Amino acid sequence: MSNVAVRYLFLPAFVALLQSITADAAERQRPILAESPDRPRFELRDRDWPGEVGAASVCLWKDDALAACSITIDDNTAPDHAWWQEMSKKYDLRITWFIVTSSVGKGWGGTWDGWQRLHAQGHDVQSHTVNHLRTTSPTWKGVEAEYTESIRQIEAAMPGNRVLVLAYPGGKDQDKLNDPKLAAKHFIGCRGVVGLINPANRINYVRTNSIGQLHVDDPKAPWADIQALFQKNARKDSAYRGWYCSHYHQVKPEVREREERHLAFMHQRVQNNDLWLGLFREVVQYSQERDTAHLEVKSAAADKIVLSLTDEMDDKRFDFPLTVKVRVSPSWKAVKADQGGRAVEAKLLEHDGATYALVQAVPDRGDVSLERKP
Ligand SMILES: [Zn+2]
Repeated sequence: MSNVAVRYLFLPAFVALLQSITADAAERQRPILAESPDRPRFELRDRDWPGEVGAASVCLWKDDALAACSITIDDNTAPDHAWWQEMSKKYDLRITWFIVTSSVGKGWGGTWDGWQRLHAQGHDVQSHTVNHLRTTSPTWKGVEAEYTESIRQIEAAMPGNRVLVLAYPGGKDQDKLNDPKLAAKHFIGCRGVVGLINPANRINYVRTNSIGQLHVDDPKAPWADIQALFQKNARKDSAYRGWYCSHYHQVKPEVREREERHLAFMHQRVQNNDLWLGLFREVVQYSQERDTAHLEVKSAAADKIVLSLTDEMDDKRFDFPLTVKVRVSPSWKAVKADQGGRAVEAKLLEHDGATYALVQAVPDRGDVSLERKP
């Protein structure tokens, strides 16, 4: 056999090998974590304080908050927007609206201009399908189109807004049509309405729990009390350090005073860094990056520490920074950090006489280096 023949014989094999490498790479970048959440993905602990200089760990939640919470609102409910904006100003809220796109332009559904304004204020606008899964609607084209068309319509009408998450429409008929397998093809997180706190190490990303409104000191719903997030071993299922996702529909004037008290309570805990108030999208990005993160300390000198931070998620959709805590020498009085040559946010804090840096880094964007700032 001549060399040429050998070469041609091996070419298809080479192409096949290349394809399998590419497929492997694609497989390594997971679109959503959908494995059974029945077993914990990691052991839940208190805040970690690495024991020696140069040691590091990924924080359970952004900025090393104890627990996380999100506020979501379904079904557009435009008549409430003025009240929510007032609350947002007062209590620094960032809210996720899950909208039914076919309602936009009708009174209750709001207008694209209005949604743009809310988005520009730091809120998020995500999918609650096109027709709320109503099969009798004139624009009904099947369940998958309810998902994909809603994404297309929101992104077309709102440049700069990426639609990554879904809230399943509720209702007897809709519940039968909701399809987590199909939804997981198009979204990185899908919200259900089971009224429990999401345990931090067992989040079901294809159907997260969510509690109707915030509950504080509500004897009728002890399982849904936001204070369970801070109570170790209070209940046997671990709400401690979990993610409290809440969902609202209409907030009638007669209950607004009560709801405001709950929002004020939450705001207080956010200010103490007990709570991270994240958009729904941000929390499912952070959690899945964290659940699959690999952190390695590459070098640790007195003045400079270099880390590698990678994860298994699709880098195009999972680009929210994780907070990494690094113990540094007490001689550090200020810190400068970069990742892949670009400056990233970092700050120092003291705990029990030791010094730690908290650095914000996106997995798979290159080495993270921390330097003592003179
Ligand atoms: Zn709904």
